[in-house]
Amino acid sequence: MNKFFFKSAKINEFRLWGLVFTLIGMGVMILGTAGIVFWGQAGKIMAAIFMVIGMISLLISVAVYFWAGMMSTSATMLECPECGKPTKMLGQTDRCMFCKTILTLDPAQATHGHTHTTTK
Ligand SMILES: [Zn+2]
Repeated sequence: MNKFFFKSAKINEFRLWGLVFTLIGMGVMILGTAGIVFWGQAGKIMAAIFMVIGMISLLISVAVYFWAGMMSTSATMLECPECGKPTKMLGQTDRCMFCKTILTLDPAQATHGHTHTTTK
């Protein structure tokens, strides 16, 4: 429990992964195209392979963005007890999008025995 890749809100993490895959996809496609310049005929095969990898990466990023959009529609809106800003949380436990405080809807995990309590 309470494991987060980048110590940020889950929605922000999804956006970050989407961005990572977009950048990888574009980077790979640019590298593939550059391969034609550097290796000529042999580079064309490499470029084709890189293009496919790039396309797959871009498709993954679209899927991640789409998924994030779907998730955010079912996210719980609440006011962060730490910074007072309205934030969204996914699932039972998530971090505040602004102050990164861990928020939970599970009373068993809450430190003060009522919902929306925080644990640092
Ligand atoms: Zn907050």
